[in-house]
Amino acid sequence: NNYQNVALVVGVTGIVGNSLAEILPLSDTPGGPWKVYGVARRPQPTWNADHPIHYIQCDVTDPNQTRDKLSKLSDITHIFYVTWTNKPTELENCDSNGRMLKNVLEAVIPHAPNLQHVCLQTGLKHYIGSFEFLGKVRPHETPFHEDLPRLVTPNFYYTQEDILMAEVEKKEGLTWSVHRPGLIFGFSPYSLMNVISGLCAYAAMCKHEDKPLKFLGTRAAWDSSWDASDADLIAEHQIWAAVDPNAKNQAFNCSNGDIIKWKHMWKVLAEQFDVEYEEFEDDDGDGDSRLRLVEEMKDKSEVWDEIVRQNGLVPTKFEDVGCWWFVVAHFGYSDTEKIESMNKSKEHGFVGFRNSKTSFIYWIDKLKANKIVP
Ligand code: NDP
Repeated sequence: NNYQNVALVVGVTGIVGNSLAEILPLSDTPGGPWKVYGVARRPQPTWNADHPIHYIQCDVTDPNQTRDKLSKLSDITHIFYVTWTNKPTELENCDSNGRMLKNVLEAVIPHAPNLQHVCLQTGLKHYIGSFEFLGKVRPHETPFHEDLPRLVTPNFYYTQEDILMAEVEKKEGLTWSVHRPGLIFGFSPYSLMNVISGLCAYAAMCKHEDKPLKFLGTRAAWDSSWDASDADLIAEHQIWAAVDPNAKNQAFNCSNGDIIKWKHMWKVLAEQFDVEYEEFEDDDGDGDSRLRLVEEMKDKSEVWDEIVRQNGLVPTKFEDVGCWWFVVAHFGYSDTEKIESMNKSKEHGFVGFRNSKTSFIYWIDKLKANKIVP
Protein backbone atom coordinates (compact mmCIF):
# COMPACT_ATOMS: atom_id res chain seq x y z
CA ASN A 1 0.00 0.00 0.00
CA ASN A 2 1.17 3.47 -0.88
CA TYR A 3 0.49 5.44 2.31
CA GLN A 4 1.54 9.06 2.54
CA ASN A 5 1.23 9.26 6.32
CA VAL A 6 0.81 6.93 9.29
CA ALA A 7 -1.29 7.92 12.31
CA LEU A 8 -1.21 6.58 15.85
CA VAL A 9 -4.52 7.42 17.56
CA VAL A 10 -4.22 6.90 21.32
CA GLY A 11 -7.77 6.51 22.64
CA VAL A 12 -9.26 5.31 19.35
CA THR A 13 -12.65 4.30 20.80
CA GLY A 14 -13.11 7.62 22.63
CA ILE A 15 -15.40 10.46 21.66
CA VAL A 16 -12.85 12.07 19.30
CA GLY A 17 -10.77 8.90 18.77
CA ASN A 18 -13.71 7.22 17.04
CA SER A 19 -14.14 10.25 14.74
CA LEU A 20 -10.42 10.17 13.87
CA ALA A 21 -10.74 6.42 13.14
CA GLU A 22 -13.58 7.18 10.75
CA ILE A 23 -12.18 10.28 9.05
CA LEU A 24 -8.44 9.56 8.72
CA PRO A 25 -8.86 6.57 6.35
CA LEU A 26 -11.19 8.45 3.94
CA SER A 27 -9.77 9.00 0.46
CA ASP A 28 -10.16 12.80 0.52
CA THR A 29 -8.69 13.45 3.99
CA PRO A 30 -5.78 15.95 3.94
CA GLY A 31 -2.39 14.25 4.22
CA GLY A 32 -3.84 10.95 2.97
CA PRO A 33 -3.89 8.19 2.16
CA TRP A 34 -3.43 7.49 5.89
CA LYS A 35 -2.53 4.21 7.51
CA VAL A 36 -4.05 4.24 11.01
CA TYR A 37 -3.01 2.47 14.21
CA GLY A 38 -5.51 2.83 17.05
CA VAL A 39 -4.92 2.12 20.74
CA ALA A 40 -7.35 1.42 23.61
CA ARG A 41 -7.51 -1.05 26.53
CA ARG A 42 -10.75 -2.93 25.87
CA PRO A 43 -11.29 -5.26 22.88
CA GLN A 44 -12.44 -3.44 19.74
CA PRO A 45 -16.20 -2.83 19.98
CA THR A 46 -18.49 -3.59 17.02
CA TRP A 47 -19.22 0.11 16.37
CA ASN A 48 -15.50 0.81 15.90
CA ALA A 49 -14.70 -2.33 13.90
CA ASP A 50 -15.97 -1.01 10.54
CA HIS A 51 -13.16 1.53 10.38
CA PRO A 52 -10.15 0.31 8.36
CA ILE A 53 -7.59 0.66 11.16
CA HIS A 54 -5.03 -1.55 12.91
CA TYR A 55 -6.47 -1.96 16.39
CA ILE A 56 -4.00 -2.46 19.25
CA GLN A 57 -5.07 -3.33 22.79
CA CYS A 58 -2.63 -1.62 25.10
CA ASP A 59 -2.82 0.04 28.52
CA VAL A 60 -0.65 3.14 28.26
CA THR A 61 -0.48 3.50 32.03
CA ASP A 62 1.94 0.54 31.88
CA PRO A 63 5.33 1.71 30.54
CA ASN A 64 6.58 -1.80 29.68
CA GLN A 65 3.47 -2.80 27.79
CA THR A 66 3.47 0.55 25.98
CA ARG A 67 7.10 0.14 24.96
CA ASP A 68 6.56 -3.46 23.82
CA LYS A 69 3.51 -2.69 21.73
CA LEU A 70 4.22 0.79 20.35
CA SER A 71 7.99 1.04 19.84
CA LYS A 72 7.84 -1.52 17.00
CA LEU A 73 5.48 0.73 14.99
CA SER A 74 8.45 2.40 13.35
CA ASP A 75 6.44 3.85 10.43
CA ILE A 76 4.36 6.29 12.56
CA THR A 77 4.46 9.86 11.20
CA HIS A 78 1.81 11.54 13.39
CA ILE A 79 0.47 10.98 16.91
CA PHE A 80 -3.10 11.96 17.87
CA TYR A 81 -3.33 11.82 21.68
CA VAL A 82 -7.03 11.72 22.64
CA THR A 83 -7.22 9.89 25.95
CA TRP A 84 -7.17 10.56 29.67
CA THR A 85 -7.86 9.04 33.05
CA ASN A 86 -9.93 10.55 35.86
CA LYS A 87 -8.58 10.32 39.43
CA PRO A 88 -10.09 11.61 42.69
CA THR A 89 -7.75 14.59 42.99
CA GLU A 90 -6.15 16.86 40.42
CA LEU A 91 -2.67 16.18 41.75
CA GLU A 92 -3.24 12.49 41.02
CA ASN A 93 -4.62 13.45 37.61
CA CYS A 94 -1.44 15.40 36.89
CA ASP A 95 0.67 12.41 37.84
CA SER A 96 -1.34 9.71 36.01
CA ASN A 97 -2.15 11.67 32.86
CA GLY A 98 1.40 12.97 32.69
CA ARG A 99 2.79 9.45 32.90
CA MET A 100 0.42 8.08 30.25
CA LEU A 101 1.48 10.74 27.75
CA LYS A 102 5.16 10.29 28.64
CA ASN A 103 4.91 6.50 28.22
CA VAL A 104 3.53 6.93 24.69
CA LEU A 105 6.03 9.59 23.64
CA GLU A 106 9.00 7.65 25.07
CA ALA A 107 7.87 4.50 23.26
CA VAL A 108 7.38 6.18 19.88
CA ILE A 109 9.74 9.17 19.47
CA PRO A 110 13.08 7.28 19.54
CA HIS A 111 11.80 4.45 17.30
CA ALA A 112 9.81 6.25 14.60
CA PRO A 113 12.37 7.99 12.36
CA ASN A 114 9.68 9.65 10.22
CA LEU A 115 7.67 11.04 13.13
CA GLN A 116 6.73 14.64 12.30
CA HIS A 117 3.97 15.91 14.58
CA VAL A 118 2.13 15.26 17.85
CA CYS A 119 -1.45 16.51 18.46
CA LEU A 120 -2.50 16.66 22.11
CA GLN A 121 -6.15 17.17 23.01
CA THR A 122 -6.81 19.01 26.27
CA GLY A 123 -9.80 21.33 26.75
CA LEU A 124 -11.57 24.41 27.99
CA LYS A 125 -10.78 23.60 31.62
CA HIS A 126 -7.39 25.08 30.77
CA TYR A 127 -9.12 28.46 31.35
CA ILE A 128 -11.49 27.70 34.23
CA GLY A 129 -9.68 25.07 36.31
CA SER A 130 -10.01 21.32 36.75
CA PHE A 131 -13.17 19.64 38.09
CA GLU A 132 -11.70 19.61 41.59
CA PHE A 133 -11.08 23.35 41.56
CA LEU A 134 -14.20 24.53 39.72
CA GLY A 135 -15.72 27.28 41.84
CA LYS A 136 -12.62 27.32 44.07
CA VAL A 137 -10.29 29.10 41.72
CA ARG A 138 -11.14 32.30 39.88
CA PRO A 139 -11.60 31.40 36.19
CA HIS A 140 -10.55 33.61 33.31
CA GLU A 141 -13.20 35.86 31.90
CA THR A 142 -14.93 34.67 28.74
CA PRO A 143 -14.28 34.77 25.76
CA PHE A 144 -11.22 32.60 26.32
CA HIS A 145 -8.27 33.10 24.01
CA GLU A 146 -5.21 30.90 23.72
CA ASP A 147 -2.59 33.24 25.15
CA LEU A 148 -4.25 33.80 28.52
CA PRO A 149 -1.85 32.90 31.33
CA ARG A 150 -2.22 29.63 33.19
CA LEU A 151 -4.33 29.69 36.36
CA VAL A 152 -2.33 29.18 39.52
CA THR A 153 -3.76 25.75 40.37
CA PRO A 154 -2.84 22.15 39.56
CA ASN A 155 -4.23 21.13 36.17
CA PHE A 156 -3.24 18.00 34.27
CA TYR A 157 -3.53 19.90 31.00
CA TYR A 158 -0.58 22.07 32.09
CA THR A 159 1.43 18.98 33.11
CA GLN A 160 0.72 17.37 29.73
CA GLU A 161 1.73 20.49 27.80
CA ASP A 162 5.02 20.66 29.70
CA ILE A 163 5.77 16.98 29.03
CA LEU A 164 4.84 17.39 25.36
CA MET A 165 7.22 20.35 24.89
CA ALA A 166 10.08 18.58 26.69
CA GLU A 167 9.71 15.31 24.74
CA VAL A 168 9.27 16.96 21.33
CA GLU A 169 12.53 18.86 21.91
CA LYS A 170 14.36 15.53 21.80
CA LYS A 171 13.85 15.03 18.07
CA GLU A 172 14.88 17.70 15.60
CA GLY A 173 12.04 19.03 13.46
CA LEU A 174 9.33 17.31 15.46
CA THR A 175 6.35 19.67 15.90
CA TRP A 176 3.30 19.77 18.20
CA SER A 177 -0.16 21.25 18.53
CA VAL A 178 -2.56 21.45 21.48
CA HIS A 179 -6.33 21.37 20.89
CA ARG A 180 -8.72 22.77 23.48
CA PRO A 181 -12.36 21.84 22.80
CA GLY A 182 -15.34 22.81 24.96
CA LEU A 183 -18.18 20.40 25.67
CA ILE A 184 -17.86 17.64 23.06
CA PHE A 185 -20.81 16.42 21.00
CA GLY A 186 -19.93 12.97 19.68
CA PHE A 187 -20.75 9.29 19.53
CA SER A 188 -18.63 7.00 21.69
CA PRO A 189 -20.48 4.92 24.31
CA TYR A 190 -17.04 4.23 25.86
CA SER A 191 -16.30 7.90 26.57
CA LEU A 192 -15.84 9.05 30.17
CA MET A 193 -17.62 12.27 29.21
CA ASN A 194 -20.31 11.99 26.54
CA VAL A 195 -23.07 14.46 27.33
CA ILE A 196 -25.13 13.37 24.29
CA SER A 197 -25.26 9.68 25.19
CA GLY A 198 -26.06 10.69 28.78
CA LEU A 199 -28.97 12.88 27.66
CA CYS A 200 -30.20 10.19 25.25
CA ALA A 201 -30.13 7.55 28.01
CA TYR A 202 -32.06 9.91 30.29
CA ALA A 203 -34.64 10.78 27.60
CA ALA A 204 -35.09 7.10 26.72
CA MET A 205 -35.67 6.35 30.41
CA CYS A 206 -38.29 9.14 30.64
CA LYS A 207 -40.03 7.74 27.58
CA HIS A 208 -39.95 4.19 28.95
CA GLU A 209 -41.37 5.29 32.29
CA ASP A 210 -43.85 7.68 30.67
CA LYS A 211 -42.51 10.69 32.54
CA PRO A 212 -41.87 14.22 31.20
CA LEU A 213 -38.32 15.25 30.34
CA LYS A 214 -37.40 17.48 33.28
CA PHE A 215 -34.26 19.60 33.05
CA LEU A 216 -31.34 18.00 34.85
CA GLY A 217 -29.61 21.01 36.32
CA THR A 218 -29.48 24.46 37.79
CA ARG A 219 -31.06 27.70 36.58
CA ALA A 220 -27.59 28.87 35.53
CA ALA A 221 -27.07 25.76 33.41
CA TRP A 222 -30.48 26.30 31.77
CA ASP A 223 -29.93 30.01 30.98
CA SER A 224 -26.21 30.33 30.24
CA SER A 225 -24.44 30.49 26.92
CA TRP A 226 -22.11 27.59 26.11
CA ASP A 227 -20.09 26.50 23.19
CA ALA A 228 -20.04 22.95 22.00
CA SER A 229 -17.36 21.15 19.98
CA ASP A 230 -18.41 18.59 17.39
CA ALA A 231 -16.20 15.48 17.55
CA ASP A 232 -15.78 15.30 13.75
CA LEU A 233 -14.85 19.01 13.71
CA ILE A 234 -12.19 18.38 16.39
CA ALA A 235 -10.83 15.50 14.31
CA GLU A 236 -10.69 17.78 11.23
CA HIS A 237 -8.96 20.46 13.34
CA GLN A 238 -6.30 18.01 14.52
CA ILE A 239 -5.72 16.67 11.00
CA TRP A 240 -5.39 20.28 9.77
CA ALA A 241 -2.77 20.99 12.45
CA ALA A 242 -0.99 17.74 11.63
CA VAL A 243 -0.47 18.62 7.96
CA ASP A 244 -0.55 22.44 7.67
CA PRO A 245 2.76 24.26 8.26
CA ASN A 246 0.83 27.31 9.61
CA ALA A 247 -0.42 25.34 12.59
CA LYS A 248 2.86 24.06 14.04
CA ASN A 249 3.89 24.50 17.68
CA GLN A 250 0.68 26.25 18.70
CA ALA A 251 -2.25 25.77 21.04
CA PHE A 252 -5.72 26.28 19.55
CA ASN A 253 -9.24 26.48 20.90
CA CYS A 254 -11.60 24.22 19.01
CA SER A 255 -15.33 24.86 19.13
CA ASN A 256 -18.26 24.93 16.72
CA GLY A 257 -18.19 28.72 16.35
CA ASP A 258 -21.73 29.39 17.59
CA ILE A 259 -23.47 29.55 20.98
CA ILE A 260 -26.01 27.23 22.57
CA LYS A 261 -28.30 27.48 25.57
CA TRP A 262 -29.69 24.32 27.14
CA LYS A 263 -33.10 26.00 27.38
CA HIS A 264 -33.18 25.82 23.56
CA MET A 265 -31.68 22.36 23.20
CA TRP A 266 -34.01 20.72 25.70
CA LYS A 267 -36.99 20.87 23.34
CA VAL A 268 -34.82 19.47 20.56
CA LEU A 269 -33.86 16.52 22.77
CA ALA A 270 -37.50 15.87 23.70
CA GLU A 271 -38.50 15.85 20.02
CA GLN A 272 -35.87 13.23 19.17
CA PHE A 273 -37.35 10.85 21.76
CA ASP A 274 -40.99 11.83 21.32
CA VAL A 275 -41.33 12.66 25.00
CA GLU A 276 -42.96 15.64 26.71
CA TYR A 277 -40.57 18.25 28.03
CA GLU A 278 -40.75 20.78 30.85
CA GLU A 279 -39.40 24.30 30.97
CA PHE A 280 -37.23 25.19 33.96
CA GLU A 281 -39.47 26.77 36.62
CA ASP A 282 -38.24 29.03 39.37
CA ASP A 283 -40.21 27.31 42.09
CA ASP A 284 -38.07 24.27 41.48
CA GLY A 285 -35.46 25.93 43.67
CA ASP A 286 -31.78 25.98 42.93
CA GLY A 287 -31.67 22.90 40.79
CA ASP A 288 -30.68 20.48 43.53
CA SER A 289 -33.93 18.57 43.18
CA ARG A 290 -33.20 18.25 39.50
CA LEU A 291 -29.71 16.98 40.09
CA ARG A 292 -31.27 14.35 42.33
CA LEU A 293 -32.86 13.02 39.15
CA VAL A 294 -29.35 12.16 38.05
CA GLU A 295 -28.76 10.35 41.33
CA GLU A 296 -31.93 8.33 40.71
CA MET A 297 -30.59 7.24 37.33
CA LYS A 298 -27.82 5.35 39.08
CA ASP A 299 -30.35 2.81 40.41
CA LYS A 300 -31.94 2.13 37.07
CA SER A 301 -29.45 -0.21 35.45
CA GLU A 302 -31.93 -3.11 35.38
CA VAL A 303 -34.56 -0.95 33.72
CA TRP A 304 -31.91 -0.01 31.15
CA ASP A 305 -31.17 -3.69 30.49
CA GLU A 306 -34.89 -4.12 29.85
CA ILE A 307 -34.91 -1.16 27.41
CA VAL A 308 -31.91 -2.71 25.65
CA ARG A 309 -33.69 -6.09 25.32
CA GLN A 310 -37.00 -4.62 24.20
CA ASN A 311 -35.39 -2.52 21.48
CA GLY A 312 -32.72 -4.97 20.36
CA LEU A 313 -29.92 -2.54 21.29
CA VAL A 314 -26.20 -3.25 21.56
CA PRO A 315 -25.70 -4.35 25.19
CA THR A 316 -24.18 -1.52 27.25
CA LYS A 317 -23.89 -0.59 30.90
CA PHE A 318 -26.27 2.20 31.90
CA GLU A 319 -23.53 4.06 33.77
CA ASP A 320 -21.22 3.89 30.72
CA VAL A 321 -23.82 5.38 28.36
CA GLY A 322 -25.19 7.74 31.03
CA CYS A 323 -21.87 9.25 32.20
CA TRP A 324 -23.87 10.39 35.26
CA TRP A 325 -20.95 11.90 37.18
CA PHE A 326 -20.25 14.10 34.17
CA VAL A 327 -23.90 15.06 33.71
CA VAL A 328 -23.88 16.21 37.36
CA ALA A 329 -20.66 18.15 36.84
CA HIS A 330 -21.89 19.83 33.67
CA PHE A 331 -25.48 20.69 34.60
CA GLY A 332 -24.81 21.36 38.28
CA TYR A 333 -22.61 24.30 37.68
CA SER A 334 -23.60 27.80 38.72
CA ASP A 335 -21.49 30.37 36.96
CA THR A 336 -21.64 32.65 33.96
CA GLU A 337 -21.09 31.61 30.38
CA LYS A 338 -18.03 29.88 28.99
CA ILE A 339 -17.17 30.75 25.40
CA GLU A 340 -13.97 30.10 23.47
CA SER A 341 -12.75 32.43 20.76
CA MET A 342 -12.04 30.73 17.42
CA ASN A 343 -10.17 33.75 16.03
CA LYS A 344 -6.72 32.19 16.31
CA SER A 345 -7.71 29.07 14.36
CA LYS A 346 -9.28 31.21 11.64
CA GLU A 347 -6.26 33.51 11.45
CA HIS A 348 -4.03 30.46 11.03
CA GLY A 349 -6.23 29.08 8.26
CA PHE A 350 -8.78 26.74 9.86
CA VAL A 351 -12.27 27.97 8.98
CA GLY A 352 -14.26 24.81 9.82
CA PHE A 353 -17.43 25.17 11.90
CA ARG A 354 -20.63 23.34 12.86
CA ASN A 355 -24.19 24.43 13.52
CA SER A 356 -24.50 23.13 17.10
CA LYS A 357 -28.19 22.27 16.86
CA THR A 358 -27.59 20.27 13.69
CA SER A 359 -24.57 18.67 15.34
CA PHE A 360 -26.66 17.74 18.43
CA ILE A 361 -29.26 15.98 16.27
CA TYR A 362 -26.60 14.36 14.08
CA TRP A 363 -24.99 12.57 17.04
CA ILE A 364 -28.33 11.55 18.53
CA ASP A 365 -29.23 10.00 15.15
CA LYS A 366 -25.88 8.23 15.05
CA LEU A 367 -26.42 6.74 18.52
CA LYS A 368 -29.84 5.53 17.38
CA ALA A 369 -28.57 4.18 14.06
CA ASN A 370 -25.88 2.19 15.88
CA LYS A 371 -28.50 0.84 18.29
CA ILE A 372 -26.88 2.31 21.40
CA VAL A 373 -30.13 4.12 22.32
CA PRO A 374 -33.74 3.44 21.21
P1 NDP B 1 -12.74 9.59 26.01
O1 NDP B 1 -13.05 9.35 27.44
O2 NDP B 1 -13.90 9.84 25.10
O3 NDP B 1 -11.94 8.35 25.40
C1 NDP B 1 -10.82 7.80 26.01
C2 NDP B 1 -10.23 6.75 25.08
O4 NDP B 1 -8.98 6.32 25.61
C3 NDP B 1 -11.06 5.48 24.92
O5 NDP B 1 -10.80 4.94 23.65
C4 NDP B 1 -10.50 4.57 26.00
O6 NDP B 1 -10.78 3.21 25.70
C5 NDP B 1 -9.01 4.90 25.88
N1 NDP B 1 -8.21 4.73 27.10
C6 NDP B 1 -8.53 5.12 28.36
N2 NDP B 1 -7.54 4.80 29.21
C7 NDP B 1 -6.59 4.18 28.48
C8 NDP B 1 -5.33 3.58 28.80
N3 NDP B 1 -4.88 3.54 30.06
N4 NDP B 1 -4.61 3.02 27.81
C9 NDP B 1 -5.07 3.03 26.53
N5 NDP B 1 -6.25 3.58 26.17
C10 NDP B 1 -7.00 4.14 27.13
O7 NDP B 1 -11.68 10.76 25.86
P2 NDP B 1 -11.94 12.32 25.54
O8 NDP B 1 -11.77 12.58 24.09
O9 NDP B 1 -13.19 12.79 26.21
O10 NDP B 1 -10.72 12.96 26.36
C11 NDP B 1 -9.49 13.39 25.81
C12 NDP B 1 -9.22 14.77 26.39
O11 NDP B 1 -10.26 15.65 25.98
C13 NDP B 1 -9.21 14.80 27.93
O12 NDP B 1 -8.15 15.60 28.36
C14 NDP B 1 -10.53 15.47 28.27
O13 NDP B 1 -10.46 16.18 29.50
C15 NDP B 1 -10.68 16.43 27.09
N6 NDP B 1 -12.04 16.96 26.88
C16 NDP B 1 -13.14 16.15 26.78
C17 NDP B 1 -14.41 16.70 26.65
C18 NDP B 1 -15.65 15.84 26.52
O14 NDP B 1 -16.78 16.41 26.49
N7 NDP B 1 -15.54 14.54 26.40
C19 NDP B 1 -14.62 18.17 26.64
C20 NDP B 1 -13.38 18.93 26.60
C21 NDP B 1 -12.17 18.33 26.76
P3 NDP B 1 -10.62 2.06 26.86
O15 NDP B 1 -11.42 2.57 28.03
O16 NDP B 1 -11.16 0.81 26.24
O17 NDP B 1 -9.16 1.99 27.14
